[in-house]
Amino acid sequence: MECGYHLCHQPDPAQQHRDRLLPGLRSPGRQPLRGVPGVPLWGHHEPRLRWRRQPGRHGSHHLPLPGSPDLHGPRRSLRCGLGRPRQPHQPGLADSLGLPSGGTQQLRSEAQHGAVYGDLRRHPALHAQCAGSGQPDHPGRPRLISRARAVGVKVLTAPLILSAPGRWVEGGGVLVSDGCIVRVLATGDEARVAAREHRAELQEFPDTVLTPGLVNAHAHLELSFLVGRLGQGLPFRAWVDELMAARGAGTPEERSRALGTAAQRMLQTGTTLVGDIATWRGAEEVLAGRGPARVCYREVLDGGDGKRAPAALEAVASPMPPAPDRFEGLSPHAPYSTSRDLLEGAANLARERSLPLAIHWAETEEEERWMSRGRGPLRGLVRNSPRCSPLEHLEQAGLLGPKLALIHGNHPRSGDRERVAASGASLVHCPGSHLWFRRQPFRIDAWLASGVNLALGTDSLASNADLSMLREMALLRGAHPQLSPECVWGLATVGGARALDLEGQAGVLSPGARADICAWPRSGLSADAWLDSVTNGDRSPSALWLGGKDHHSAQEVQA
Ligand SMILES: [Zn+2]
Repeated sequence: MECGYHLCHQPDPAQQHRDRLLPGLRSPGRQPLRGVPGVPLWGHHEPRLRWRRQPGRHGSHHLPLPGSPDLHGPRRSLRCGLGRPRQPHQPGLADSLGLPSGGTQQLRSEAQHGAVYGDLRRHPALHAQCAGSGQPDHPGRPRLISRARAVGVKVLTAPLILSAPGRWVEGGGVLVSDGCIVRVLATGDEARVAAREHRAELQEFPDTVLTPGLVNAHAHLELSFLVGRLGQGLPFRAWVDELMAARGAGTPEERSRALGTAAQRMLQTGTTLVGDIATWRGAEEVLAGRGPARVCYREVLDGGDGKRAPAALEAVASPMPPAPDRFEGLSPHAPYSTSRDLLEGAANLARERSLPLAIHWAETEEEERWMSRGRGPLRGLVRNSPRCSPLEHLEQAGLLGPKLALIHGNHPRSGDRERVAASGASLVHCPGSHLWFRRQPFRIDAWLASGVNLALGTDSLASNADLSMLREMALLRGAHPQLSPECVWGLATVGGARALDLEGQAGVLSPGARADICAWPRSGLSADAWLDSVTNGDRSPSALWLGGKDHHSAQEVQA
């Protein structure tokens, strides 16, 4: 039986159990993941847990993920805040399972009427699979799994669950098995029944809100040692010069220490998935088993000199070694620092290996001046202006498509938003970095109106003061008070997951998604008041699960 990174010659009971619960999720297009031990978390609130059952320790986890389409293949449409679906609806995983789809209004209505999202009874494929293997004397019931196969199965309950933007469940629970979410349960009774039937550990969290973890769609964790070393408000070229000088000065020990601290900080502030630009191989060793799950975008650039493109591409041609909670991606650095040959090679590589792509784009006016006329401060830093717009440079190389995340987009040309929307690419806005450089107000309303999927990122500590998505949400709301808390939450969860080509697998609590879950103090607030509070940065998670791994509370970390 092949299980991802290595060949297992013995059947894996946990895998067999998960396959029964979630049939049809395995696909060769994605690498399976395994859980990681020991995820530290600080918080301000220790949930009062009532333990109903103590399970045995579980070993490695295997989480097959739905396949991803080709570079320009079909994508499911999904509403996110104010944004419109960017593609016509395409059949996807949810459709094959018979899951509901539609706007947030419909989802809110479902929650108000106690509808069960992901309930086996509403999804014949899942129900038939379970019922078909049920015990003979209860032919219609989901199968009662053996104690040995219940390892890693748990039900979390809380008074409020925010499974997706606009989708609240009051008094329900979440059934988790072997690193992924099986069902969201509509009521406490259903949660208790599910726990009994699946011999699951039941964990109850009073006065708590359960949500998916936050998604940071753009960061450079390896630059964390530069915190506080670069000036704020510098012109872009001056900042790049400072960055290049400071970047070579850090010792491996400094880099490693800062990297570990940064990864922990992300978990402390509720981030469970990050799109991380990577150039330093040493980072992989430091981050193994630490921090949030990562889409590791290996960076390539040739300074605009196409003669250097083959060597740059050769360095990323072979797949990364498998690692838990890590997805591989590819990041040509920026239009001004990449030749046409390099971009075409990157597009081909991404297409062949179904890799997500990320690129800094339209960040500065300097970029536009160099790209279109070969002038400005970037002259001398890079070579061979292509004499076209930055977006045309990407389009002509075949890079623009649904698997591409464009980072920044501060200076689009007229018509660029519409072209990005038509391509299905995402845009990642970094409010903290925007503030750092004291840029002109970001045109978020225009981007939202264009229908482009939007996400949030922190960028690096070379151009931001923190790696907290709570702060990014608060900064966004401060800069754009017209945005609803629901919209901002959507950008920080489902928008980010989609930008990282993990739509439906992160940023939501739904069947088949990774069990990346945050517990937050509710403090007696209503759902709306709580969401207003957390998107203003006034709250920290009290516990966290990464790939279904047990929560890690403040007390545990301090011990
Ligand atoms: Zn960046």
